[in-house]
Amino acid sequence: MSPSEQIYERAKRVMPGGCSRNTILRKPHPVYVKHAKGCIVTDIEGKERIDFANNVASLIHGHAHPATINAVGEQLQRGTAYTVGTEIEVSYAEQMVKRCASFEKIRFVNSGTEAVMSCIKAARAYTNKPKIAKVEGSYHGLYDYAEVSQTAKPNNWGDIEHPARVPVSQGTPQGALDDVVIIPFNDTVRAIKILDEHKDSIAAVLLDLLPHRIGVIPADPSFVKALRNWATENQALLIFDEVITFRTNYDGAQGSYDVKPDLTAMGKMIGGGFPVGALSGRADIMDVMNPLNGPARFPHYGTFSANPITMTAGKTAMEWFNQQAVIRLNKLSDLARSAIEEGIKISGVSACVTGAGSMFRIHFKELAPTNYRSAFINSDEQRYLATFLDHVFDEGLLMIETGSGLLSTAMTSAEIDQMADIMLGGFRKVKALQ
Ligand code: PMP
Repeated sequence: MSPSEQIYERAKRVMPGGCSRNTILRKPHPVYVKHAKGCIVTDIEGKERIDFANNVASLIHGHAHPATINAVGEQLQRGTAYTVGTEIEVSYAEQMVKRCASFEKIRFVNSGTEAVMSCIKAARAYTNKPKIAKVEGSYHGLYDYAEVSQTAKPNNWGDIEHPARVPVSQGTPQGALDDVVIIPFNDTVRAIKILDEHKDSIAAVLLDLLPHRIGVIPADPSFVKALRNWATENQALLIFDEVITFRTNYDGAQGSYDVKPDLTAMGKMIGGGFPVGALSGRADIMDVMNPLNGPARFPHYGTFSANPITMTAGKTAMEWFNQQAVIRLNKLSDLARSAIEEGIKISGVSACVTGAGSMFRIHFKELAPTNYRSAFINSDEQRYLATFLDHVFDEGLLMIETGSGLLSTAMTSAEIDQMADIMLGGFRKVKALQ
């Protein structure tokens, strides 16, 4: 047995599935990390891989970013969490509020799930209404309401005129399902019709502008504008989930749109490698968490929220992710997407690549998907994807199980060339199966 297999045998005895996080699982067994630096992760067997997973989009500068590590090292000596404020929380909040036009006030939490949940609770408290609307198939973390229909399948997703409310976890209370309205992505006419049916009870419309699970296809500006107008006209809030997409521009994916959300949920990269979430937006809405003028409408706490380790790492990482760094990373990502397209062409495989900013996703489909239903991976495509992902993993690339990848600033064109070579081999293998 290899060292990784031995660890996994121990892991299965003490954790369901052998882990705390299904993301690490691989067949026949996961591998375990020895160390990581920049864009290279080395496992305990000594195999090196170029990291296009970046802890599912959370590492913008790759691993062990020197400036972040130094700053955190100094803070570690002074303590890790107190029941007393820290100035670093305030200076990081100041930095973030300056970064994006829709950010007037901000609060930090510990995960993207918590950020989305807090946005929803803030919206309910502000509007005094119970329901949220979300796009079919979009992932927003584990909160009961936010996860509805994230894993809908052809046999249960229902009619497109009224997509079904499909629970993810067994035992999700019917009450939670009843308070979620599912709309189709980039389909303005149908979405508005569905929203109108619930217009007196919707607190917020929740939207990811470049949704990973829907295929990393950008939200159409006219769709976003229509949701903005609908929310304003119906006293509902518009929430953007930028947990992943904040990396797209200096001021998030929203920087590419002529629309301001009322609230934005963030997470992942803004923690500089440490657990984080944040919600930011209009001051009058954020003030539902303000306890200074009587009981807050949405009382908001969190033992590790804004802990100084996360604040130090996040502030440092975001300072380094300045305008120039964003431009360079997005150019490198354009190069990666073109190289993938080239590999698809050379191999003759039936596939395509989507993406924007520093994200890409490979689909084993002739045509780029346009919504969750067309992005859905059928059983043949699942087989092609598994063959491709196994190939690139064995040859030295880490990617996300959906066929997606994200770049980090630690990468250069040399890693993109290596990526292209390895992927070409994977495309050829899939071509032989098609
Ligand atoms: N929203 C989006 C768009 C996400 O991709 C994720 C995580 N993949 C979340 C929310 C939840 O974040 P976390 O895993 O930090 O709870």
